[in-house]
Amino acid sequence: MTYNVALIPGDGIGKEVVPEAVKIIKALSKQHGFEMIFTEFPYSCENYFKTGRMMPEDGIEKLRNFDAIFLGAVGDFQVPDHVSLWGLLIPIRRQMQQYVNVRPVKLLPGIQSPLANRTSDDIDFVVVRENNEGEYSQIGGRMYEGTDLEMVVQETVFTRKGVDRIMRYAFELARKRPRKHLSSATKSNGIIHTMPYWDERFKAFSKQYPDVKTDQFHIDILTAHFVQHPDWFDVVVGSNLFGDILSDLGPAIAGSIGIAASANLNPEKKFPSMFEPVHGSAPDIAGKGIANPIGTFWSAQMMLDFLGEKKAATLLMQALEAVTANHIFTPDLGGNATTKEFTEAVLNNLNGN
Ligand code: ATP
Repeated sequence: MTYNVALIPGDGIGKEVVPEAVKIIKALSKQHGFEMIFTEFPYSCENYFKTGRMMPEDGIEKLRNFDAIFLGAVGDFQVPDHVSLWGLLIPIRRQMQQYVNVRPVKLLPGIQSPLANRTSDDIDFVVVRENNEGEYSQIGGRMYEGTDLEMVVQETVFTRKGVDRIMRYAFELARKRPRKHLSSATKSNGIIHTMPYWDERFKAFSKQYPDVKTDQFHIDILTAHFVQHPDWFDVVVGSNLFGDILSDLGPAIAGSIGIAASANLNPEKKFPSMFEPVHGSAPDIAGKGIANPIGTFWSAQMMLDFLGEKKAATLLMQALEAVTANHIFTPDLGGNATTKEFTEAVLNNLNGN
């Protein structure tokens, strides 16, 4: 099988971790008889400085026929975050109908959680974030700018189609996991239109999935539970904003933002899905060769799994876990391995050394 993958290393440490992931994928493809052809695109803040755009006008069009998109990180302190986000990531997520954002949160062996006495058995859940609508909408505006009457409105959009498809994905995922447990993030006490609707759809779906145990929490107490009772969670579904917040908190309790992986999925495979580590360009450590590549490797693992290379995906996850269990860590996790040394350790494991 041959896969065509669009590679967007992006900025900062994105350009350091993506080539390492390519090495790993190439090793796996040799071992498992598939081919992955990478085509690199320079879409980034660097591109913005050169051309005034994060990507060319036909940037999305150019990505459309790939089997997947693999992205490192985009960001630069001289470019406002909303420019880099709305100029690249959000258009790709929306136009490719990548309506599911999946972020696994798992304490890997050997890694110390900042939460006392927690082990890998306690922290192993998945955040499923709605990725196309909700609170991150372009509807709104500002009036009477710069005067005492200045006002700003930002609309939240929940559609039946949008809410139902994320619920369906989350219930299906929960059904496949051993604990079969789905928690919903809500705030229907304070947000009185959209969130009760979210709850209503969650309840309707729970009737269709009687084998899945369900509960729901207001987002405020849910964040506290993530810290105090991470073992309560298996799959957690949230709107775009709540899912975003939870999926940064998750990796924080699992050790480091550097290990967090994500997949932006178009489950129907009508458009390419996009795989990217959760972290940003990390300008403070860029160029030093010490970025933690686990989040990127784990994202590659999710890409292999989604494309159907299940065996390669399983072996990559096992290799990552074996290396962390051996206490080979980059400095963010208290070790002294460089990005390349960590990659070597994973490659050695995959090669049976
Ligand atoms: P951006 O503007 O691109 O989002 P940022 O610095 O605001 O960049 P992150 O890049 O996520 O946000 O970095 C947050 C902190 O976590 C930084 O101190 C960074 O060095 C650290 N960090 C992020 N990713 C990694 C990684 N892969 N390895 C080690 N440290 C990381």
